Amino acid sequence: MIWDPKKALLLQPDLTYMRTELPPGEKGRYFPAFHTIVVDSGLNQAGRRCALTHELIHAEARDDCIPSSWLTDKYEHDVDKQAATRLITLEALISALLWTHNPDELAEELHVDADTVHVRLAHLSRAERGAIAARLNEAFSRLP
Ligand SMILES: [Zn+2]
Repeated sequence: MIWDPKKALLLQPDLTYMRTELPPGEKGRYFPAFHTIVVDSGLNQAGRRCALTHELIHAEARDDCIPSSWLTDKYEHDVDKQAATRLITLEALISALLWTHNPDELAEELHVDADTVHVRLAHLSRAERGAIAARLNEAFSRLP
């Protein structure tokens, strides 16, 4: 099943979703006490999909504050990896890579922000890298 953050949101009627202006650099935030997700109103649609997915993962875990900044950074990065994997399936990534390797074009094709593409590409498994290489080699070997 293809991940759709809006559908995931609809499946959780007790979760509140709001869009408002957040401080610079902050794309979204989950407030566990209110079981509420806030996404920055200045984001474009692709940015909102990525921020909402990230915050939905926090909401699924009912994440509260984490006791150290080192753990917070590590955990936030892990949530980013989970979000990127949900938003960019291997098949979609391969399809996009067949016509571009430009990060901005990949982001546009995959309907995500550039950060999410970067995270997805940086954390491909060995099996995913193998699958991508095989498909690209097969496609490019058929070129005249
Ligand atoms: Zn987070």
